Amino acid sequence: MTHEQSAHEPCPCGRGLTYPECCGRWHACHAADGTLAAPTAEDLMRSRYTAFARIGAAGPVDQDRHDDAARTVAAMVAYLRATWAPETRPAAADLTPGPGEAPTVFTRLAVTDATGGGPFDMAGTVSFTALGRDASGGRVRLTERSRFRREGGLWRYVDGDVAG
Ligand SMILES: [Zn+2]
Repeated sequence: MTHEQSAHEPCPCGRGLTYPECCGRWHACHAADGTLAAPTAEDLMRSRYTAFARIGAAGPVDQDRHDDAARTVAAMVAYLRATWAPETRPAAADLTPGPGEAPTVFTRLAVTDATGGGPFDMAGTVSFTALGRDASGGRVRLTERSRFRREGGLWRYVDGDVAG
């Protein structure tokens, strides 16, 4: 399935805004000049979920593809890596499916709790459940309490506790 996010579709993070009004703002800032602009830990968490959702919606992308879907995936992988703390940041190859593999398709996000994470905090946590389906069509349910850190005014994801 190849699917480009249209300007009028709801943002995948489910806040009720369109993508350009919501997580797309932070993605666009990063694509333009590398700026990380999400003002709160929750905004950053939502924009990272949306990046994963857009990677999933793009479908399998191999290295020979240079279309819009491939560009979207490359931009989202770059955003995810930039918003990851350096000490826990994965390689780009670990954020995309291997050749011929389908990515996890995320379909729903519920943010259940947040502590700290505001414009004047240095740390914060965001708890969420993300729903989706994996390459074989099985249901994916990820519940995590994520930790975020603000350095130099920029929020980054550090790590998280995944609920069993
Ligand atoms: Zn959003």
